[in-house]
Amino acid sequence: MAYSYSEVEGKRAHDPLAVGIAVKSAKCIWVAGPIIVGAGPSGLAAAACLKQRGVPSVILERSNCIASLWKNRTYDRLRLHLPKQFCELPLMPFPKNFPTYPTKQQFVAYLDTYVSRFDLKPVFGTTVVSAEFDPICRFWRVKTSSGTKCLDFEYTSRWLIVATGENAEAFLPKLEGMDDFRGPVLHTSEYKSGDMFCGKRVLVVGCGNSGMEVCLDLCNHNAQPSLVVRDSVHILPQEMLGRSTFGLSMCFLKWFPAHIVDRLLLLVSHFMIGDTAKYGLIRPKLGPLQLKNKTGKTPVLDVGTLSHIKSGKIKVFRGIKRVRHDSVEFVDEKEEKFDAIILATGYRSNVPSWLMDTDMFSKEDGFPKEQFPHTWKGKDGLYAIGFNKRGLLGASMDAWRIAEDIELMWKAETKRFTDLTRAVA
Ligand SMILES: Cc1cc2nc3c(=O)[nH]c(=O)nc-3n(C[C@H](O)[C@H](O)[C@H](O)COP(=O)(O)OP(=O)(O)OC[C@H]3O[C@@H](n4cnc5c(N)ncnc54)[C@H](O)[C@@H]3O)c2cc1C
Repeated sequence: MAYSYSEVEGKRAHDPLAVGIAVKSAKCIWVAGPIIVGAGPSGLAAAACLKQRGVPSVILERSNCIASLWKNRTYDRLRLHLPKQFCELPLMPFPKNFPTYPTKQQFVAYLDTYVSRFDLKPVFGTTVVSAEFDPICRFWRVKTSSGTKCLDFEYTSRWLIVATGENAEAFLPKLEGMDDFRGPVLHTSEYKSGDMFCGKRVLVVGCGNSGMEVCLDLCNHNAQPSLVVRDSVHILPQEMLGRSTFGLSMCFLKWFPAHIVDRLLLLVSHFMIGDTAKYGLIRPKLGPLQLKNKTGKTPVLDVGTLSHIKSGKIKVFRGIKRVRHDSVEFVDEKEEKFDAIILATGYRSNVPSWLMDTDMFSKEDGFPKEQFPHTWKGKDGLYAIGFNKRGLLGASMDAWRIAEDIELMWKAETKRFTDLTRAVA
C-alpha cells in the first residue's frame, strides 16, 4: 500500500509519485528530497538552505527536541566561545540586541526562531540505526528505531545528509581503578553548574574549553577544583588588541600565512598572559592555527580560569596513574584526595555505528577521510555537514555547498518528471 504522506514534511497531499513529498507504505517511507540525520544546528542549516532553493527534506532526530546538545547536554554558564558573527546559521543573522558572545539560552532561542522561520518539522524520537546505499535501485535505505516497534520505518531517498555532529557521544576514557572511586564521576555533558560541589574537592580531567570553563564555574561556586593537563595546550586570551582573538586571526589570515599569524598571536599572548608553561600548561611546538589546521585541535580561549590557576586556587596535575577509593595518584607519584571527578574528555562521532559500507567516513574516528574543504561530499548522493572541525561557521559553509549541489540534481529530476508526465498525458 502506498498513500500520500503529509506528517513528515510536505503539507501537500499528492499522488505517491509526485516530486517533493514523502510517501509512506506499511513500513517504508519514500522521501523525494534528501534525508537529513540530526536536528542540531547543522541539520537545521542544511534543511533551511534546501528549502530556500525549493528542495524539501526530512530531518530525523533521535531526541525529542532540536539542538539536543545545546538544550540537554551543556552547562548553565555556557556562552558561545566565538563572537556571534562567526556562529550564525545561513539566511538568518542573530538579533542586533544579542551580546558579542550570546548565552546558551540566547543561542537556543535563536535556533527555535530559526526552526519557526523556515517552518522545519523534524521527526523526533527517531534514531537512525543503519543507512545503506542500494546500488541496484540507486537510493539510500535508512532504518530507524523509535523504541516502539510499530513506529520503526525504513526511509528511502536519493540523497543522505549526515548531520549527527562531531559531538554525538560523550567520550569516557578508561582510568585504572575508576570503578573503586567512592564519589560521583560525571562527564561534562552531565554537568550543569557548580552548585552541588560547594566546598568539595573536584578533579577536572581535560583541559579544553569545557574543562577550563567548568573549573572557573567550580571556583565561582566555592568548590576546590584541580585540573589534569596531560597534553600540551595553547591558551590564548579571548580578546586581544581590543578585538576577539578569533576575529583578529581571521583578519590577519587574509594577508599572512598561518605560521606568521601564529607568531603574532603567541607574541601578544605572551605579553598579556605570560609564560603559561610556568603553571603546567605547556604549549605545543606547532602554533595554534597551524595545529588547528593539521589536527583540528582548538586552542583554549581563556575566559578567566587562568588567573585562578596563577593564584593557585586551581591546582594543575600532569596525568592520572590510577584512581583509588577516595584519591587519585598522578604520573609524578603525587596523590591527592578528591570528592568528585568530572571528565572533560570530549566527544566522538557515532557515524561508524550506523552508516554502512562507505568510503567517505573513517571507521576509526567517524570523520570524513578527506580534509577541509573537501569533507562535505561523498559518492552516490551522500553528504556530510558539521564535520570539518570548524564549528558553526564550518557548518554554514557546508550547508550552502550541499544545498547548491542538490538543487541542481533536484531541478533536473523535477524537469524530467514533468516532461514524462506531459508525454504520458
Ligand atoms: C560545550 C560546547 C560549546 C561549543 N561552543 C561552540 C561555539 O561557541 N561556536 C561554535 O562554532 N561551535 C561550538 N561548539 C561546537 C558544536 O559542535 C557546534 O556548535 C554545534 O552544536 C554542532 O552542530 P551539529 O548540528 O553539527 O551537531 P550537534 O549539535 O551535536 O547535533 C547533532 C544532532 O544529531 C542527533 N543525532 C546523533 N545521532 C543520531 C542518530 N543516529 N539518529 C538521529 N539523530 C542523531 C543528535 O541528537 C543531535 O541533536 C561547541 C560544542 C560544545 C560541546
